[in-house]
Amino acid sequence: MQDQINGTTVLAALEGMQSPGWQVAAVGEYEHSLPSRYASLRADLSARILALTGRQISPEEIYTNGRLAVAGVDGVTFRLHHGDLMLVRTCTYCGTGHFESPKISSLSDIGYALSAWRPLHEDCEDYSADEFPDF
Ligand SMILES: [Zn+2]
Repeated sequence: MQDQINGTTVLAALEGMQSPGWQVAAVGEYEHSLPSRYASLRADLSARILALTGRQISPEEIYTNGRLAVAGVDGVTFRLHHGDLMLVRTCTYCGTGHFESPKISSLSDIGYALSAWRPLHEDCEDYSADEFPDF
């Protein structure tokens, strides 16, 4: 998805600009570490989803850019970011955007993120306030 700027291009560009050797080495080191980053992020997210939901997600079904990993499970989007598992939902009022839930570490946390948690754009808060008395 966001793999258009692949490492080879960046490295080639750095070398072309005759950047200092340490910068080229740093980028090379980063790129060298990418495959194992991808693999460990996918393995981590897959293991957490399996533990919490009982769903087995194959590595191919998990998107990762080396910093975060994302997977869809039965219409629910899970995201692993900075070592924290979160649920991603759209705005409760307008149905757009991406909001990260509070950290998920138990089935109950997922339950909260799926029900009581109501992610809202700032601009949508005013409109949706009227809906709360209906609960
Ligand atoms: Zn909204």
